[in-house]
Amino acid sequence: MAASEAAPPTASAAGGASSAPPLQPGLYLVGTPIGNLEDITLRALRVLRTASCILAEDTRRTRILLERHGITTPLISCHKFNERAREEEILRRIHEGQALALVTDAGMPGISDPGARAASAVRRAGACVTVIPGPCALTAAIALGGSVDGRGFRFEGFLDHKTAARRRRLRELAAEPQTVALYESPYRILKLLTEVEEELGPERRLFIARELTKKFEETVTGTPAELRRHYETHSLKGEFVVLLYPAGGEEKS
Ligand code: SAM
Repeated sequence: MAASEAAPPTASAAGGASSAPPLQPGLYLVGTPIGNLEDITLRALRVLRTASCILAEDTRRTRILLERHGITTPLISCHKFNERAREEEILRRIHEGQALALVTDAGMPGISDPGARAASAVRRAGACVTVIPGPCALTAAIALGGSVDGRGFRFEGFLDHKTAARRRRLRELAAEPQTVALYESPYRILKLLTEVEEELGPERRLFIARELTKKFEETVTGTPAELRRHYETHSLKGEFVVLLYPAGGEEKS
């Protein structure tokens, strides 16, 4: 069963102040901006405003978002190192009648981020879990650079940090017929280009989206060598999504 809300919001009440009806007890997974603080839905704002408390991956970071929108709901830390330990408290609070919002530093909970474990525990306990969808770096990158032939995509998230495991995984993905979406840190993006070139061949084409929704958003397409040359003169700072097109599968830009 999904948590439902006492009454459907009107457009004017959705993001707004105290007139919002109370939320039913349960866990609300709330999507938050991936960079641009304006990228938040009216429903997300209403839920964050009216929840009993907000479970946040990094309370300091979430406070910036809340302050921007004048929200004063109490924050509790809930990150990958304490998500399991928080389960009991989450269930207790819900059984006491509380509505708990869960947010991560950016984007959708459960997408290479905490949230799925808490959602599963609440669902298994027979309590209500629902989602307030919002921005996600994966879907933003796919919207910009995804396959033009409608073959869909495969989400890999982060590759392992260890070189041997990364290269092994890339070899396994070599014949993948769909575009493969990876999250990557700025510290490993050049290493990834070398690994793709060596494991999948120099002709393999990639699409890289950097700093999506932010001031220095940038997208670039090319072979590993072309992209390495690009980064000789362009910034490597920020956050990256890499789309690995299938062998021979994407038209040249
Ligand atoms: N839950 C998030 C989501 O829904 O996209 C992803 C969290 S994951 C810990 C963080 C990674 O997402 C970053 O290392 C980067 O690969 C990607 N990412 C997040 N924000 C981004 C942005 N604004 N531009 C490009 N990539 C981004």
